[in-house]
Amino acid sequence: MSTSSSYLPPGLPAPVPARDGLDAPYWEAASQHRLVAQRCRSCRRWQWGPEWLCHRCHSFEVAFEAPPGPAVIYSWERPWHPVHPVLATHGPYIVALVELPEADGIRMVGNLVGDPTVAVSVGAEVVPHFEDHLDDDPPFTLVHWRFA
Ligand code: ZN
Repeated sequence: MSTSSSYLPPGLPAPVPARDGLDAPYWEAASQHRLVAQRCRSCRRWQWGPEWLCHRCHSFEVAFEAPPGPAVIYSWERPWHPVHPVLATHGPYIVALVELPEADGIRMVGNLVGDPTVAVSVGAEVVPHFEDHLDDDPPFTLVHWRFA
């Protein structure tokens, strides 16, 4: 999917990996249309967002892996008001907080693509939806969600 078919209009700030490289593997995987999250190599627990060490066992041996199982809507909102000037004539849209129950219940935020007026149910299953912005400099890929 190109910029011309993006969920939100062009002109929004582009995401960039953290300067220290902490989340670079996430963005690299997204560019390959793969979802990854952080998992501790010592205690094997999942965590999100990325940190330099494990929240639970304090190991520095954390890595990025593809999380297992379904992803479900944990919460969501439907903004109608423009939170950025390029959204002045665009709206509503849906922002979802998505939970991955089989990955220790980590939660990830993203837009829910599709009809922005659709009824949304907590617990509904969703899958990642990758939106490429290859013409941007630097290019990036957003991870949205859509109903499974
Ligand atoms: Zn750990």
